[in-house]
Amino acid sequence: MASLRDLPVDEFIDALSVPCCYISQDGTVLLWNTHAEVLFGWERDEVLHQPLPVVRQLDHALETWSPLLLQYPFSTTAMTPFQHKDGSVIYATAYLQSFSLEGIYGYFLAFLPKGFGPLISTEQFNLLHHFQEMIKQSTHYLATNAKGEIVDINPSLCRLLDATEQQLIGREWFELIHDSSEQDGISRNVLKSLATNRIWNGEMPISCKQHESEPCWLNLTVVPIVSEKNEVIQYTAFGFDVSEKKRLEKEVQFLAYQNELTGLYNKKGFLRRYDSILRQIDEREGLLHIALFDIDRFKIINESFGSRVGNELLIQIKERALHLIPESALLFHPTGGLFGVMFFEESKEEVFQVLRHLQHELQRPFRIYHHSIMVSISIGCVFYPSSTSSLEELYTRAESALFKGKQIGVGTIQFVTKDMDAAFSRQIHIEKAMYRALEEKHFYLEYQPKYELATDRLIGFEALLRWHHDELGQIPPSEFIPLAEEMALIVPINNWVILEATKQLKAWKAEFDQPLSMAINISPNQFRSDSFLNTLRNIKQQLQLDPADIILEITESLVMQQTDEIIERMEQIKRLNYRLSIDDFGTGFSSLQYLKSFPVDELKIDKVFLDDWMASKSHLLDVIVHLGKSLNLHVVAEGVEDEEMLAHLKSTDCDSFQGYLYARPASPSAIEQLLRSLKNSPDA
Ligand code: C2E
Ligand code: CA
Ligand code: CA
Repeated sequence: MASLRDLPVDEFIDALSVPCCYISQDGTVLLWNTHAEVLFGWERDEVLHQPLPVVRQLDHALETWSPLLLQYPFSTTAMTPFQHKDGSVIYATAYLQSFSLEGIYGYFLAFLPKGFGPLISTEQFNLLHHFQEMIKQSTHYLATNAKGEIVDINPSLCRLLDATEQQLIGREWFELIHDSSEQDGISRNVLKSLATNRIWNGEMPISCKQHESEPCWLNLTVVPIVSEKNEVIQYTAFGFDVSEKKRLEKEVQFLAYQNELTGLYNKKGFLRRYDSILRQIDEREGLLHIALFDIDRFKIINESFGSRVGNELLIQIKERALHLIPESALLFHPTGGLFGVMFFEESKEEVFQVLRHLQHELQRPFRIYHHSIMVSISIGCVFYPSSTSSLEELYTRAESALFKGKQIGVGTIQFVTKDMDAAFSRQIHIEKAMYRALEEKHFYLEYQPKYELATDRLIGFEALLRWHHDELGQIPPSEFIPLAEEMALIVPINNWVILEATKQLKAWKAEFDQPLSMAINISPNQFRSDSFLNTLRNIKQQLQLDPADIILEITESLVMQQTDEIIERMEQIKRLNYRLSIDDFGTGFSSLQYLKSFPVDELKIDKVFLDDWMASKSHLLDVIVHLGKSLNLHVVAEGVEDEEMLAHLKSTDCDSFQGYLYARPASPSAIEQLLRSLKNSPDA
């Protein structure tokens, strides 16, 4: 058998029981064995010096193989379709090896067709062994008996393991896996895959003596050898060293997963590295706290002192924080002025003490170059076990607690409370349900009538989105719209709203023959979306409605951004003849100066100004009405709930109003009833 190696190459590959061939770099067949003839139907003479016929897109395949084989001397493809001479498809695993033969550099290919494993005979097994002999030359090789005890191992693997063949024979193969806690899991995985796929390929960490702490990584292919009775006789594994590739990968990962400045895990790195931490905590019935702490107004520090100072501040914060947290805790650095600490095992009280101390210490002055800088720190903290199931969710909750605290004031420590916890669970529930709600058409519209102040005449409606959820009941738009906005679901939802509301308006105008308008709320993301103008154009064309009857309500905060795109978009909308209204006017600090230059038609005064008038009879409301009128805008007051308010509005120049006093948002059928009664009443 040993003499096999001494055979001329073409005789050698014929002796292999495996279909195989040797091709040059450009895909020309140089050797083709008899098993390949049988498997693919092509005789040797037909294929020699021709392009390899069994691979459908040979050029493409060669392009894939060549960089692969430059990197690794040996490579396998998963079950791949190859072509038989008669046109049928043959699935096989291909083993590729770069090879230099008589000065010609090329590829050696062996094919293990589907079902090859169980079909193998003892004789074939012996021959396959020769194939392995060859593989033994250049790669690591190992064979075990059915029980997993090593029966054969090649010198290069012995060298890698720094042990002699005698020391290794008889040992269980999985003892070679680095990190004994991984041995069970990995070997179970391999066996499971072998039972179904008959082949396993993957990267395996092997303990090697060179460096105790770091494993050596082998790309391993394991094939079971099966008897005629379909019993596994042996497992053979061959592989090559990919440690260097692994090391590079790790380095690249580290760059993507660490904060460049402090070297701490960033958010991505933290979430990835501790992905399975909750499971471990559950198993140990342990505790976990995640705190996020933020340098309040870090951006301003950066802008006023420059980023050199800002960066130095972050480094000093890291140094200080590392001294203040327990040794077992982990400091990470998601981004900018935001840091995080993960505490293991400490009780809530202990964590609170640490955080208070941390906050106190970080608020002492920092000496940076010739500046003395003091910062205030806000902290949000979340505790596990809670109703979360993932680390990412937990992180998000800590983040929300932090923001919630910041709303109360800077320099706070905010724990996620039971209420917040419940709110989060609800939020997640709602988010999941929203996709279905859109598909299954669970959204519907209500319409709130709008009246002219001078005459009390009904002049139009505002369309308001509603969602009834089977379990959660009615979900208010103020709750689900911000979520939809975050999830980018707002665009399809709102496109549906526009279409539905405009169709409704057209139907009512036709039936009741009255001048009526329809106000539709447009979310900022929808306003900015590429499809928005098209939707408006389509509606204009298809429905043959006058766009002047449609009022698009946009928020003051959107207008305030006054970027060129937004102004341009407003102008495009005006060119289509739609009307534009600024909703919740007065809550967003618009500068009066630029209101003048915007192409808007209407101001909708927020209810807070009506409430304010009711409470203190202040002039603010009158001033805003006056302002709107002086800019020649239509002015609407919303949220009129009582007679006294209405009477006062009538004394101003305000044009129209909306409110529970006259009508709440109502279903289309209720609105139809209202329209019918108005038509029939004598003073209509
Ligand atoms: P908004 O645009 O300011 O809508 C007015 C809200 O005030 C509506 O609440 C309405 O029911 C309520 N309202 C009307 N009159 C009175 C009154 O006299 N007293 C009181 N207390 N409230 C009154 P709703 O329907 O819950 O909508 C809340 C917000 O949800 C809306 O505020 C709007 O920002 C958003 N929204 C509703 N529908 C849509 C939609 O189709 N698309 C988008 N993007 N947002 C929508
Ligand atoms: Ca509105
Ligand atoms: Ca409003």
